[in-house]
Amino acid sequence: MVLKIDHIGVAVENLEKSLQLYSGLLGLKSEGIEEVAEQKVNVAFIPVGESEIELLESTSPDGPIARFIVSRGLGIQHIAFCVENIEKALEELKAQGVRLIDEKPRYGAGGARIAFLHPKETQGVLVELCERVKS
Ligand code: ZN
Repeated sequence: MVLKIDHIGVAVENLEKSLQLYSGLLGLKSEGIEEVAEQKVNVAFIPVGESEIELLESTSPDGPIARFIVSRGLGIQHIAFCVENIEKALEELKAQGVRLIDEKPRYGAGGARIAFLHPKETQGVLVELCERVKS
């Protein structure tokens, strides 16, 4: 059901500084910044071959990324797997009794449809499923 690693989500304190870091150290460039108000984040995607790095900067101290940084520190926050059909993937997981954070797909940056699994089900790794709208 999984096609590839879609992206790796990284919690950062300052998007501009982090973008400079990835660009300066590795020559990687983002495709612009988007605010996802529902998640209280500013997001920048940096393409790397077939996958991407997703930099996440909180826009509010009570947002999920701000809370993640307080409890776990800066760094990798989640791994997103690209699936062809996210409803089908979620149904298959539910049928196996897997706990989900999102029972239904919701809006993700770049117009993707995303859903998170409960990290207790995946040995501490926050797993996102991501379906890209085909262009
Ligand atoms: Zn993500």
